[in-house]
Amino acid sequence: MRILVTNDDGIYSPGLLALAEVAAAFGEVRVVAPDVEQSAMGHAITIARPLHYRSTPMGGLEAYRVNGTPADCVALGTHHWDTVDLVLSGINLGSNLGNEIWHSGTVAAAKQAALLGIPAIAFSAFMNGREPDFAALKPWVGRVLEALLREPKPFLINVNLPLRPKGLLWARQSVRRYEGRVIPGTDPMGREHFWFVAHPDHEPEEGTDRWAVEHNFIALTPLRLDLTDEARLSQAFQLAASTE
Ligand code: MN
Repeated sequence: MRILVTNDDGIYSPGLLALAEVAAAFGEVRVVAPDVEQSAMGHAITIARPLHYRSTPMGGLEAYRVNGTPADCVALGTHHWDTVDLVLSGINLGSNLGNEIWHSGTVAAAKQAALLGIPAIAFSAFMNGREPDFAALKPWVGRVLEALLREPKPFLINVNLPLRPKGLLWARQSVRRYEGRVIPGTDPMGREHFWFVAHPDHEPEEGTDRWAVEHNFIALTPLRLDLTDEARLSQAFQLAASTE
């Protein structure tokens, strides 16, 4: 099995190395990741300048850094490697839960693979000021891969790891509220500036990804690429039929 590994924290992230090392037990691994951090870049692609590869030492693994986004890395990596069987993205330094998925470069890399018809899994680890304990999380990532690789293909799964997992739990995306906020401040020269942050500020609903991680479960959320609002669409069809 050929496994392409990428992330949005950049080629030198310890989370990327941890994921690639776990993946190596499941197949042939190639790492293609952004040369600098691309967190919160979402599903952006680079269209106004050329992209370049540079070979990068990463233990004994074949690895390349790209001057592009996570989605660029998946596009290039799958273009230059025939029949990639699985794309893994992460392990992100920080959760990608609920509506954070919209901004996430980690999830976008997996989405790009899904667009190309390749099964993909995004991995993110909860952070509480300190770096996640990847040595402790790696066996859990292996358990997730074992479980998901038994699934029928194709699939797109968003996986979020708590600090100290106690098990795996399938969960829906928490979408009740959007937590994006603009926080004003002042720089050392007295000029006003703004930070755009998206931190949760409400209790999560049971059964959601955020609830699972807060209860120390690894949240597994299957995602789809079709954004159609089916209920609204059928309403529109009914309305159109009744006015004919
Ligand atoms: Mn990131």
